[in-house]
Amino acid sequence: MKGYAMLKIGESGWIEKDTPACGPLDAIVKPLAVAICTSDVHTLWEGAIGDRHNMILGHEASAEVVEVGSEVKDFKPGDRVLIPAITPDWNSLEAQAGYSMHSGGMLAGWKFSNFKDGVFSEYFHVNDADGNLALMPEGMDPADACILSDMVPTGFHAVELADVQLGDTVLVIGIGPVGLMSVAGAALRGASRIIAVGTRPVCIEAAKGYGATDFISYKDGPIDEQVMELTGGKGVDRVCIAGGTVETFEPAVKALKPGGKIGNVNYLGSGDYINIPRVEWGVGMGHKDIRGGLMPGGRLRMEKLSSLVTAGRLDLHPECTHVFHGWDHLEEALFLMRDKPADLIKPVVVID
Ligand code: NAD
Ligand code: ZN
Repeated sequence: MKGYAMLKIGESGWIEKDTPACGPLDAIVKPLAVAICTSDVHTLWEGAIGDRHNMILGHEASAEVVEVGSEVKDFKPGDRVLIPAITPDWNSLEAQAGYSMHSGGMLAGWKFSNFKDGVFSEYFHVNDADGNLALMPEGMDPADACILSDMVPTGFHAVELADVQLGDTVLVIGIGPVGLMSVAGAALRGASRIIAVGTRPVCIEAAKGYGATDFISYKDGPIDEQVMELTGGKGVDRVCIAGGTVETFEPAVKALKPGGKIGNVNYLGSGDYINIPRVEWGVGMGHKDIRGGLMPGGRLRMEKLSSLVTAGRLDLHPECTHVFHGWDHLEEALFLMRDKPADLIKPVVVID
């Protein structure tokens, strides 16, 4: 089979590989659509998870099942499925402890294009098929279905980590495709005010649609100062971080009320330490929680999140701004995600 791979840091291209083998609990699937993620950009061009040689990239896809292992009960060839970007080993001790995303080691539930080949190939392997696949709802667009792989569960996980409550004022830092889903998740959880930090007009328009009430740009001065101005010096109850750098924790802590929580899902691609401002962190006693996490993955989450879409409570369509058809456009889509033109939210490639 052919797959689009990271050859080494900074270099990518099409390669030939053997079709993966299917173990008793596994499935082999072929993509219906794949989406490019900013994490692919961090991995390939920044070497953020270290060097990888001839590793097929990509972790966001919807697919059709072509083969299942002898122990798989709920899926069969021909089924159209949703696949989470994080596919834990559900019988691991880490999953039993409630941290499925770290099954087998820190971040090891993230297997595609990290510990094994990813989804930018004619076929790919899914471990623990009954625990990780979900049936794609009837009539769902395969391009939209890709957004359920990672953007929805990750953006929503920031909201879960920040523990957004009814009536909260929430700051969402970064409104790319992940942060937009944090805006949507905060709105679904009952936030009263959602202050979004971002600059691309297309993202600002989408954020309005998902429930953002106020907008600030990090290019117009320190985020925390702008938040304090907007909130009459009070600050916010919760912060979701879905963009920025190791420096972004500083304004997040400064903008947060005591007792507040920060949920980070941003992938910190560079820098050795994050900055926590001592005084605004209450000289160590401010009850300002900083939580960072990889989304949990798995079938139940896929089923629940897709039910929000079928119930008409979550519209994925605004995320897919650039939809291509055919593998020939994959590289173009990947390079778009790196270059982030002003009209881009998410590039998706449908495999017709
Ligand atoms: P994106 O680049 O499209 O959006 C990032 C946003 O951050 C933009 O709105 C941009 O304006 C804003 N931004 C950039 N620099 C900033 C700064 N200095 N201060 C404040 N805001 C700034 O990215 P995306 O595709 O939405 O992904 C967001 C992050 O989430 C990426 O780092 C990605 O790798 C990561 N991610 C994490 C997971 C996970 O499971 N934890 C999954 C997918 C993606
Ligand atoms: Zn992703």
